[in-house]
Amino acid sequence: MTRSFRHGVHPEGHKEATEHLPVERMPFVDRYVLPLSQHTGAPATPLVAPGRRVSRGEAIAAPGGFVSTTLHAPVDGRVVAIGPRPHPAGRLVEAIEIEIDPWSPQSPPRAAAVDPATLSRDEFVATLQEAGLVGMGGAAFPTHVKYRLPAGRVVRQLLVNGCECEPFLTSDHRLMVERAADVVRGASIVAAQLGIVEVLFGVETNKADAIAALEAATAGRPEMRVVPLAVKYPQGAEKMLVRALLGIEVPSGKLPLDVGAVVNNVATMTAIADWFDRRRPLIERVVTVAGPGVRRPANLLVPVGTPVRAVLEHCGGLAEATREVVMGGPMMGAPLASLDVPVLKGTSGLLAFTEAEARLPAEYSCIKCGRCVEACPQLLNPSRLGRLARAGRWEEMLAYHAMDCVECGSCSFACPSGIPIVQLIRVAKGALRQQAAREKVS
Ligand code: SF4
Ligand code: SF4
Repeated sequence: MTRSFRHGVHPEGHKEATEHLPVERMPFVDRYVLPLSQHTGAPATPLVAPGRRVSRGEAIAAPGGFVSTTLHAPVDGRVVAIGPRPHPAGRLVEAIEIEIDPWSPQSPPRAAAVDPATLSRDEFVATLQEAGLVGMGGAAFPTHVKYRLPAGRVVRQLLVNGCECEPFLTSDHRLMVERAADVVRGASIVAAQLGIVEVLFGVETNKADAIAALEAATAGRPEMRVVPLAVKYPQGAEKMLVRALLGIEVPSGKLPLDVGAVVNNVATMTAIADWFDRRRPLIERVVTVAGPGVRRPANLLVPVGTPVRAVLEHCGGLAEATREVVMGGPMMGAPLASLDVPVLKGTSGLLAFTEAEARLPAEYSCIKCGRCVEACPQLLNPSRLGRLARAGRWEEMLAYHAMDCVECGSCSFACPSGIPIVQLIRVAKGALRQQAAREKVS
């Protein structure tokens, strides 16, 4: 039987429009907006001032702390402003705006390759922070943080996440097909540095060509194995991938590291290969542009900072019936309040939906059917959590392990009564976090 995790849901894949489309480069545009906050952790601090000329791949902002990364210019150009700009999260965020140099050939950054074997662990962690790497599967957690292991901690397995279980998204799929050797190269670098004994690539069975490409790229590497996984959502969530690949549960409040595993996305692996072998920091990424509202679906290599509006225009613009554009997948992504926001390092997709998909379902009373409980991969009781959240009884939710919720939305997807369970839990978790922060300060 094909491996998987417990519970979860089976949303329609909708990947056929882009899964066979090779990645194409998005043409350069006039202006780029680089928010200083594009990942979990502290925002970066500007290293440049308005008027300064910058080159493609040059550092323009330094990490604002350990859980933060360097930000680089995606193009040759000139800094025209630093100030608040609309962010995909729906608020204004400090950003560096760059006007492109129209005469530059925009050659990729070039420097001699660095042999990762010559670096100590601390140097390895520092150089990945310098490369601006973040998890590219959506959460955008700075990659280097995962590699600074607490003293005495041993990691035995590297789990490379090639699930891409969100509907519509195919950017990771294309990377595995087109750049399998670099996915494997990135994994080899991490494995050698962390003393890892086994590398497992988890790929869902709806990506047969990706499985074949990775199998060919890992041939003759006994420490590496490609593991086909059942098609199920949210298999790409870290704890679910650990369960699917290793058959063990990561306990409540713990990380994969606590069971001896590190989980990284396939796009992070290619970014690591790019940094060591080509000295290219994270200045561009593959974005799937799809959904019924997009005229020409595509997988595009897009410089970070490109306005969403420009990306959609490159794909023929939006169909008239479009009602909503979502950044990320339909399950965990967020609708955009404006198209004048930039593509971030964590932007895996831009999906345009019409009225039929964007409309919120009518909400009815809970019929106690238990489908949300059956769906929850964290084995929680979403129905109860949702009710407590709605009643504002947030503290009581802690006893029901609310903080273990990974906000995957499987419960809402499964609910026949249209109850927005994940939204209720998300709001309550935010309030609980704020309360905890206030208590820490006082
Ligand atoms: S309660 Fe949280 S983890 Fe469980 S299905 Fe709902 S969103 Fe996912
Ligand atoms: S799936 Fe919806 S209706 Fe069924 S128990 Fe959960 S909240 Fe109630």
